[in-house]
Amino acid sequence: MWPSPPTSTPDPRLLHGCRSGGKGSPKNRLTDGSVRGWPGGRRPARVVWILTTAGIARCAARAYDTIAASRGASIGPLARPATPVKVAGHDSRRGSHSGRSVATTKTIASTTTTVCANSNQSFLSMKAKTNTGGAATRSGVRSVSARTLGDWLDATLETSRFKDYCPNGLQAEGTRPIRRLVCGVTASLALVKAARAARADALLVHHGWFWRGEDPRLTGTQHLRVRELLDAGIHLFAYHLPLDAHAELGNNAQLARRMGWQTDGRLGEYDLISWHHLPDSRDARQIAAHLKRRLGQTPIVVGTLSRPIRRIAWCTGAAQDMIVEAAKSGADAFVSGEISERTTHLARELGVVYFAAGHHATERYGVQALARAAGQVLGVEQQFIDDPNPV
Ligand SMILES: [Zn+2]
Repeated sequence: MWPSPPTSTPDPRLLHGCRSGGKGSPKNRLTDGSVRGWPGGRRPARVVWILTTAGIARCAARAYDTIAASRGASIGPLARPATPVKVAGHDSRRGSHSGRSVATTKTIASTTTTVCANSNQSFLSMKAKTNTGGAATRSGVRSVSARTLGDWLDATLETSRFKDYCPNGLQAEGTRPIRRLVCGVTASLALVKAARAARADALLVHHGWFWRGEDPRLTGTQHLRVRELLDAGIHLFAYHLPLDAHAELGNNAQLARRMGWQTDGRLGEYDLISWHHLPDSRDARQIAAHLKRRLGQTPIVVGTLSRPIRRIAWCTGAAQDMIVEAAKSGADAFVSGEISERTTHLARELGVVYFAAGHHATERYGVQALARAAGQVLGVEQQFIDDPNPV
């Protein structure tokens, strides 16, 4: 489906069917220079529209309408008309919901839990931060069908726009309505077990299953993951590129929030590269220290380290080959999660600084923002469980 990229080094992740390893991945494809460019570059009106919080509100309202119309009845959790929904994590100062009102729910508590790396079913901590700042109570928690949740997620992320190399949406069907939604980065066995222990009805992840090129047989580790999930009756929802790209809830947008970078523009396929013009020039060491502070992980830094950095671009995950497109667009530095051997040479020869800030570390935030939004719009309880990964 995707044109073959002129990558110089085979990506070992292809062997494992990892989502970012596909040769056709927009994230790791080298470009031929056909870049849309910086602020003057073409940006679809649709994307500009959805950049606003009003866009989110309208998305939610449209999803509600679709769902309600398809069922001919109220979907229960939502009461309309109501005050506009405030998606947690959005800065209300950036704009008001100038569009229609959408359904809202009571504040739903959410927690962050960490999976113990050495013991699949135990937790380092069962209580961490409360995402929404609301009371940790089940009052106000509602249940929705998998179809309702899936329809809302699909509409919000505009899943149909994307040609991906994994199925986005409901990947495995559970057995019951959804009251408790657990989210995490990758549907590992440890995360599935943790979700089961947390009595999740559904699991929402960025890296799901069934990657193109992967051995489709349910054997070995994949068998164990699937069996655990099905035994627990948990629904599995996965969103890959649509979650990277979403202008408010996506991984790139949420990384920017985490780092304190304004998204001044986006470029590339599906606008997967974001950029920011720093108010003053920084050096590589300062950027690295800031990444470590905000993400809790020391980045690998390569390239032209002496270059002053004003324009910084980023794409989360395994987008190291997008360094070419970012550099051609005028970036002084590019941030992604992973690094390949070739990346060092590319960065040096392109004259930019490259930061490998961690695939997992850069992609922890989109799925949390999405789950929070689902919790607030649909009324389900939601919780983030971290399965730590140094890569
Ligand atoms: Zn990823």
